[in-house]
Amino acid sequence: MEYVTLHNGVRMPQLGFGVYQTPPEETQRCVSDALEIGYRHIDTAQAYNNEEGVGAAVKTSGIDRQDIFLTSKVWFYKEGYTAARASIDESLKRLDTDYIDLMLVHQPFGDYYSTYRALEEAYEAGKLRAIGVSNFYPDRLVDLCEFTHITPMVNQVETHVFFQQQEARPFMDQLGIIHESWGPFAEGINDFFTNPTLSGIAEKYGKTVAQVALRYLIERGVVVIPKSTHKERMAENFNVFDFQLSDADKETIALLDTHHSVFLDHRTGETAQRFAGFAR
Ligand code: NAP
Repeated sequence: MEYVTLHNGVRMPQLGFGVYQTPPEETQRCVSDALEIGYRHIDTAQAYNNEEGVGAAVKTSGIDRQDIFLTSKVWFYKEGYTAARASIDESLKRLDTDYIDLMLVHQPFGDYYSTYRALEEAYEAGKLRAIGVSNFYPDRLVDLCEFTHITPMVNQVETHVFFQQQEARPFMDQLGIIHESWGPFAEGINDFFTNPTLSGIAEKYGKTVAQVALRYLIERGVVVIPKSTHKERMAENFNVFDFQLSDADKETIALLDTHHSVFLDHRTGETAQRFAGFAR
């Protein structure tokens, strides 16, 4: 396993396991499978409705809690700060743990400054080992850093070969914020797993498209958290530390960047309206 070091010194495994869209009743089994394969970093969120399954898998794994890196994310609430603060304690209960390794502000919507303040306080109280944000593009990321007390340690944003965040990354680097990818396979959109460029490169290394896609991000210093409900795919996605892409292949993959989201643009009025609807 390779690690990144956050600006407060906490070490984070560069490869983790995501559980978005993993049904609550399947989550414990999936996370147990992932831990058995060797994953030691799990990414969940209040909004995924499956923190209990993650907590149960960690508890029954027999692995020391300190050897597992747990991330969750605070949703945005109409009540702002008070609700955000209470929700951190609820996540701790659902995850059945005394501390969470990394807690993120899930979306740059609603009163996210208050949400972030609740995270800062929980961090200072020792309930969270690190704090950060998700889906923050440079405008909001820079502004948050200018007007809060603790610089976020991580920014988790949509990142895959079709949307590489080449414009946003310099801002994260300047601020000392680790770039974490969500959707490293673009959830399979655009025939991801049969992309001819990636397939050609994968064949040369005796690897799969999924492995090349993850390796490319890892070599750019990005943290990746692929999701799968299939144990053989979890194992495939974990097996990415025994090869290195050549500079020429990385240059070829860099050209797949379309510079925009395959899902939704967090900076449009339509997206803000859609998210405001979730909070109502
Ligand atoms: P993803 O990891 O890009 O793709 C998951 C999809 O790929 C699933 O349909 C999975 O199918 C399939 N898959 C996985 N490994 C495969 C392989 N080796 N070969 C073929 N198919 C494979 O998508 P994601 O779940 O959206 O992103 C990963 C994690 O990022 C999430 O689980 C979540 O933790 C996080 N996330 C965060 C946000 C945010 O707003 N912060 C948003 C989205 C996601 P099966 O499950 O059927 O195997």
